[in-house]
Amino acid sequence: MSLILGLVFRITHYKIESGEGTSMKAFAMLGIGKTGWIEKDRPACGPLDAIVRPIVLAPCTSDVHTVWEGAVGDRHNLILGHEGVGEVVEVGDYVKDFKPGDRVILSAITPDWNSLEAQAGFAMHSGGMLAGWKFSNIKDGVFAEFIHVNDADGNLALLPEGIEPEVGAMLSDMVPTGLHGSELAGVQFGDTVCVIGIGPVGLMGVRGAVLRGASHIYAVGTRPNCVAIAKEYGATDIISYKDGPLDKQILDKTKGKGVDRVIIAGGTVDTFAEAIRMLKPGGSIGNINYLGEGDFIKIPRADWGVGMGHKTITGGLMPGGRLRSEKLAALVVAGRIDPAKLITHRFEGFDQLEKALMLMKDKPKDLIKPVVKIT
Ligand code: NAD
Ligand code: ZN
Repeated sequence: MSLILGLVFRITHYKIESGEGTSMKAFAMLGIGKTGWIEKDRPACGPLDAIVRPIVLAPCTSDVHTVWEGAVGDRHNLILGHEGVGEVVEVGDYVKDFKPGDRVILSAITPDWNSLEAQAGFAMHSGGMLAGWKFSNIKDGVFAEFIHVNDADGNLALLPEGIEPEVGAMLSDMVPTGLHGSELAGVQFGDTVCVIGIGPVGLMGVRGAVLRGASHIYAVGTRPNCVAIAKEYGATDIISYKDGPLDKQILDKTKGKGVDRVIIAGGTVDTFAEAIRMLKPGGSIGNINYLGEGDFIKIPRADWGVGMGHKTITGGLMPGGRLRSEKLAALVVAGRIDPAKLITHRFEGFDQLEKALMLMKDKPKDLIKPVVKIT
């Protein structure tokens, strides 16, 4: 029996073509505030892993937090990036469902699926809080000629026919995180929802709220193209944080009642105070925003019902995993979500990654999401 298995594994374990050397080019964080091109050894493929070559890559606001705000600490030669679509070039002996040539969605979060945290339902924290976020955090990211994916059967998903690779790249992080905002907030049929921050993540939060049955959706943002897409995705009202405190504006619009749910996809530690104030008793807040500054989140005592208002706050990292990626990709195929609208800037060529990331850092007004076509 073991002989037969051994034979099967040997047949299914494909190797990257040799003869191209063992090093690869990559775009990395060199230290806080510093990026650059580096040469690194190609990653080795373990028995459960896959090696993937990129087809389309996308920089993320999180990469900006990593490099310029030291979000994951000072790092040297850490390859950046966690969003993209690629082609499998090698799989480990125990990988059953993927093979070289498959076009796959890379997930920003790649948990260890046999961990206790995964068994508890929180795979994104496998190995410790936030430790399911491995790319450009615990290990090298995807801005490389060769990308290592742990637990390939659990973490890769085939890119369905009919989804362009650049749209598939939105399924790495923007779609799953935005939709997770609506899950964390617990949006239910007929709920009124406020989405604070309508960058690409918040825009997907708007769409998530629509899919979960929200009635009124108040989207907080100012940039014209974000506002336009928020409306296309289903926002019913637009609010500008430049027009005064958000809670006052929401309370005005809802005749003092407030909203059932708040999705936070932008702002600071202070945003929670506004969110609590605009929330009805029994309401809930789903935060997906990264909080880079401040030691404490502020919860106003009286508006929190002096501790008895049944106002819930949950913050979460996006769940990863193949099942999730496949389900979200199915939503795109079915036309229920259209992440193509998020892509505002397109680059071609691996060496354009740097430009795309700098654009993400500088955030010109018309930018929502840049993508880089590699092959
Ligand atoms: P973004 O910067 O493009 O969008 C954030 C938006 O919030 C911007 O449009 C900004 O103008 C707006 N904003 C800022 N301050 C505000 C305020 N006080 N009130 C209302 N709006 C305000 O970022 P993004 O790419 O959409 O990502 C949003 C956040 O999600 C980032 O912090 C990112 O790091 C985080 N993120 C989290 C996860 C996760 O797993 N939870 C995954 C990816 C990204
Ligand atoms: Zn991202």
